Amino acid sequence: MLPGDEILVISGEVPRDVIRWQILTDEAEVVLAVERDGDRFDLTVQKRDGEPLGAEVHAAVFDKVQTCDNHCEFCFIHQLPKGMRRSLYLKDDDYRLSFLYGNFTTLTRFTELDLERVITERLSPLNVSIHATDPAIRSDILKNRRGAVSLRWLRALLDHDIEVHGQVVVCPGLNDADVLEDTLAGVLERFPELASVCVVPLGISKFSKEPRMRTHTLAEAERVVDIVDSWQSTFMAALGRRMVFAGDEYYLMAGRPFPAPATYEGFSMHEDGIGMARTFEAEFADPTVSEPTGPRAGFFAWVDGAPADGYRAPRQDSPATVVGQGDAPAISTSVVLSARRGAAVGVLTGTLGAPIIEPLVAELGRTDVRVLPVPNEFFGGNIGVTGLMVGEDIARVLAGEPEGHRYLLPDVCLSRGVFLDGMHVSDLPRPVEVISTDGAALRSALEPA
Ligand code: SF4
Repeated sequence: MLPGDEILVISGEVPRDVIRWQILTDEAEVVLAVERDGDRFDLTVQKRDGEPLGAEVHAAVFDKVQTCDNHCEFCFIHQLPKGMRRSLYLKDDDYRLSFLYGNFTTLTRFTELDLERVITERLSPLNVSIHATDPAIRSDILKNRRGAVSLRWLRALLDHDIEVHGQVVVCPGLNDADVLEDTLAGVLERFPELASVCVVPLGISKFSKEPRMRTHTLAEAERVVDIVDSWQSTFMAALGRRMVFAGDEYYLMAGRPFPAPATYEGFSMHEDGIGMARTFEAEFADPTVSEPTGPRAGFFAWVDGAPADGYRAPRQDSPATVVGQGDAPAISTSVVLSARRGAAVGVLTGTLGAPIIEPLVAELGRTDVRVLPVPNEFFGGNIGVTGLMVGEDIARVLAGEPEGHRYLLPDVCLSRGVFLDGMHVSDLPRPVEVISTDGAALRSALEPA
């Protein structure tokens, strides 16, 4: 095999995606039909059962990604400014991307064949957007008639012991308050086998053109927290587990303390902003935490050579890099850190991350460490999560800060070293140290020389 060879068929099958690829290439004998410069030939590979083939694929899905035909008013893709990377505008509703990357699917395009495949290949866990269990309200939210009936697939998945995590994106005035109560009652009645349900607020950028979409008032955020709290007790009594969790953003909006770590029951939806504050806090405070909670490796823990993507894509070019300015090369972390330790430190974070990190830093009692919240003017609206910080906003904050200080940048806002707005870390007006987005990494970066 040579780079550029095209594998057309594996052991008699044209694989649709990296999942089939993995299953087919897992065998001890693999027959490949290969095309090279217009010529086709067969190749038999003999190896140990389960041994990787030794080839990498360029994408996770080889046929077409199943696109979404819903028109949710809160859809963040509709609220992106023009001119961003093309891939960011792709609205997918593909169970395979749910399995591979943790994307949420509404199941409105799910079919009997898909169900058969999920069951046969045990594609578990999956993430499903529920939003409301009332059929009319759900179809109104998704702006899709099939939204009224597509939760029947959720029932079928659960009937076949597929692990499913549910999500409710709450839009005030639409599916909060009594509708949220009704939804959670519907979950208990119809989908009690769900692994968890996370309740998160909608994000609104300044590009939203939807008149019904607005941010929560304080009272509305408080009500969501109260509803989740009360349903946790109900689920606990009925099922022996809490099942439903509110996103960290709700506790910040409502000015309430985050729930105790033990109540998160393993932080299974950490990626969705559930319990991130508590894990960060614990990792920061406890030097014995060696494995911080981060993105789930998911399928890629066992697929060899598959491209990680989406939220699970590598964030940095290399771990813990210190990035020079402009054309200056990245310098070895250890060299720069030892030179800079002792300098004052600015910790960059989103406006929603700041209230979590500030008290932790304050407890250190160090006057040389400050938190630098980065207001998100690129997206505007209520967008304050650290993961959506962009280069131009960070550059504006850094330009007002002194030279010679250390600036710590959490890697969650990067994908392969690039911000969502296409800027690279080396374009920033001050050198930054890119660190993993967890409490242990921050603690270690702040340790004295
Ligand atoms: S289902 Fe997801 S991708 Fe599709 S419109 Fe709704 S929010 Fe957007």
